[in-house]
Amino acid sequence: MSACVDCGSWAINHHLYGRDGSRPDLCDTCYWRLKAEKFRRDAERYRWLRDLPLGSKHEQIGNMPGDMWDAAIDAAMGEREGAT
Ligand SMILES: [Zn+2]
Repeated sequence: MSACVDCGSWAINHHLYGRDGSRPDLCDTCYWRLKAEKFRRDAERYRWLRDLPLGSKHEQIGNMPGDMWDAAIDAAMGEREGAT
């Protein structure tokens, strides 16, 4: 048995709380926080796409296949942040 690599907790229960067996080095809390943060990033991307102004040069991202979105949107978001 080992402690969580992130916070040091011993509460690592792979067979409980709906864990899928991935990230055996994380405790239950850090495991679910990691999952949640991934989805929060997705939500940020969807919000960014939704809020694009009409005529934006990034409009074509909405027509890309889903597996191309993440990298394309991240690059475009970084570009916008850099411009401000
Ligand atoms: Zn932890």
